[in-house]
Amino acid sequence: MQKKRVLSVILALTLSIGCAIPAQASSISETQKKGEELQSQKDSAEAEKAALTKQLNDLIDEMDKTTEDINTKQEEIDAKETELIQAQIDENNQYESMKKRIKYMYENGNTQFIEVLLESKSIGEFLNNAEYIAQISDYDRQMLKEFQQTVQDVDDQKTALETEKVELETLQTQLQDKQNEVSTLISEKADLIGDLETAIGENAAKLQALQEEAARQARVQQEAAAAANRGNSSSGSSGGGSSSGGSSSGGGSSSPVAPITPSGSGRLSNPCPSAYISSEFGGRTSPGGIGSTNHKGRDYATGTGSPIYAAASGTVTTVSYNVARGNYVVINHGNGLSTLYQHCSATYVSAGQSVSAGQNIAAVGTTGYSTGPHLHFEVWVNGTPVDPRLYL
Ligand SMILES: [Zn+2]
Repeated sequence: MQKKRVLSVILALTLSIGCAIPAQASSISETQKKGEELQSQKDSAEAEKAALTKQLNDLIDEMDKTTEDINTKQEEIDAKETELIQAQIDENNQYESMKKRIKYMYENGNTQFIEVLLESKSIGEFLNNAEYIAQISDYDRQMLKEFQQTVQDVDDQKTALETEKVELETLQTQLQDKQNEVSTLISEKADLIGDLETAIGENAAKLQALQEEAARQARVQQEAAAAANRGNSSSGSSGGGSSSGGSSSGGGSSSPVAPITPSGSGRLSNPCPSAYISSEFGGRTSPGGIGSTNHKGRDYATGTGSPIYAAASGTVTTVSYNVARGNYVVINHGNGLSTLYQHCSATYVSAGQSVSAGQNIAAVGTTGYSTGPHLHFEVWVNGTPVDPRLYL
């Protein structure tokens, strides 16, 4: 009777260990590999961020130089403006002295041309008319033409400088746009690095849990073997049987199912009652040296599609996706308290929506950086992750 019970316990243990150990072993090496991948993704994100920061600094230098160039150009334009005014004065002086000489000629008897000249409406017309006036000296006409040419040249130079200044201002605007763009990329990269750090911590925590579970199963297997030896050597002895039976029930801690309790007075209810807790919140020593192990939440392991419930009533602030979190939901419960639900296979709520405690908001999945279907659940107090056990 007693021996039969011992044997059935051993059989059950052998079956469960037979199934569990190879799965655990492959899961451990997969998790280690995932940790290395995440670290290398973080390293390359850091390198990209550094390159972007250098690009931004170069843009700022270029911007400073362009601003300097614009100021220099403006000084040149101002100088050209002064030069133009002087050239116009010179042109006008020549025109006036020329007219005096014509008047002098008129007063001394050259009467036939004066009316034609006085009717001239512009310098150009005057010059054409003047072509016919032999009495006006070649010198006067040549001088006027030269002064006119100078005015034209200075005006052209001023226009060219203004065009160059407009080009520099366009360049300045482009540099500013580029600077904004690179700044945005840098902050996106910083967000990604933060998320990757979270994923690395989560992964390391999972690895730790898997290794502990493997060690526990190995101990159970040893105890079972010892019990089998005792059973074989002394049949009818009851001590070995009951002790291995006790350790078997101790090992069945894989699914403590808690009921959903509606939230009240700031308490949170279990967001995923169909799951078991595969990893708790907190810092751990890194097994295998895979980066930071600061686990910012609590992991609920269960099958894909299992319901995720709002831990308390509140307002959905974010329903989004990113490469680390996968599909995720954030709910604000007021008084600085928020909850985050990661790696969902589906989400059933949208930002701005009010939800009640225990409302089905999403389904468990393995989206983002996740090694298997689970809910990564975080509780934030004023934006800082805290141990969910403080509220559950
Ligand atoms: Zn987690």
